[in-house]
Amino acid sequence: VKSIAVLTSGGDSQGMNAAVRAVVRSALYNGLEVYGVQRGYQGLLNDDLRQMDLRSVGDIIQRGGTILQTARCKEFMTAEGQEKGAEVLRGRGIDGLVVIGGDGSYQGANKLSKLGIKTMVLPGTIDNDIPFTDYTIGFDTAVGIVVDAINKIRDTMSSHERSSVVEVMGRHCGDIALYAGLASGAETILVPEVPFNLTEVSQRMEANFAKGKRHSIVVVAEGAGNGHDVSSEITRGCGLEPRVTVLGHIQRGGTPTAVDRILASRLGDYAVHQLMAGDSGKACGIVRGEFLSTDIDTVVNTKKPFNLDLYELALRLSQ
Ligand code: ATP
Repeated sequence: VKSIAVLTSGGDSQGMNAAVRAVVRSALYNGLEVYGVQRGYQGLLNDDLRQMDLRSVGDIIQRGGTILQTARCKEFMTAEGQEKGAEVLRGRGIDGLVVIGGDGSYQGANKLSKLGIKTMVLPGTIDNDIPFTDYTIGFDTAVGIVVDAINKIRDTMSSHERSSVVEVMGRHCGDIALYAGLASGAETILVPEVPFNLTEVSQRMEANFAKGKRHSIVVVAEGAGNGHDVSSEITRGCGLEPRVTVLGHIQRGGTPTAVDRILASRLGDYAVHQLMAGDSGKACGIVRGEFLSTDIDTVVNTKKPFNLDLYELALRLSQ
């Protein structure tokens, strides 16, 4: 490849900018031309591309969001849309593409690779819901934000000897709830991967209060239930009346952690090298400290395994 493009797509995540910076700087270092596509696949269809130089990605490694912006694009879901996207790239002499996004963005990139564009995808999502990578870019930052919020909620819960339900992001994957719940000492963690019974949850909470616990925090992933509904159920099941906090979009913003910046930098550089080696249709990830690329087909057809050991540990330690 001589000329590549980079785009961000789907929901944004902290560290996307660090990944864009890494792709651009690594490509330039290796003598490639590099273009930034504005607003994901929508921008590609609109031919909204600009050539990137070293300074175009200055002062962004520390910023949340994405300077390339992101969008959801219905037209790109169609075969005609995908052919049009490939044609825009060919027309500009661009033969490689790095897509940073979640599951849906992976599917789009896979279609482009089947149309002859060399593509690599990077896991840019706070949800950590992508298989064949231990972590996604943004996950560490999101977990830190949730832990910080729970610390604050816990201070006031302890003073008042109250319980609290905290709803966090994660539609299909409970990893934010799991990791943040473990790190903040939450008593109950509700995730879409593990069935639960709210009557049992409320009985356990009451029993723990009786044993002298002064606060009780339930973390619920949005895919496992709505925070207000969970609180109402618990109120019906026992004498506790948990207060509800829905953290929402603050989980997706703010400066990325060093862990996310380093992951993004290394994955961006890795993707450029895979393209230069002639590879295509691959998802880049990190597994037990090793970088690897897996067929996008395999990644989008595999469900990320849930870490039940970690879940059980969190429960054991939070009695
Ligand atoms: P998030 O982490 O927010 O879910 P995502 O990348 O999964 O991120 P989606 O909205 O699912 O977000 O996908 C982003 C874009 O990718 C879509 O708007 C669409 O343009 C493209 N896309 C999604 N699925 C497909 C598909 N099956 N074929 C082609 N393009 C797709």
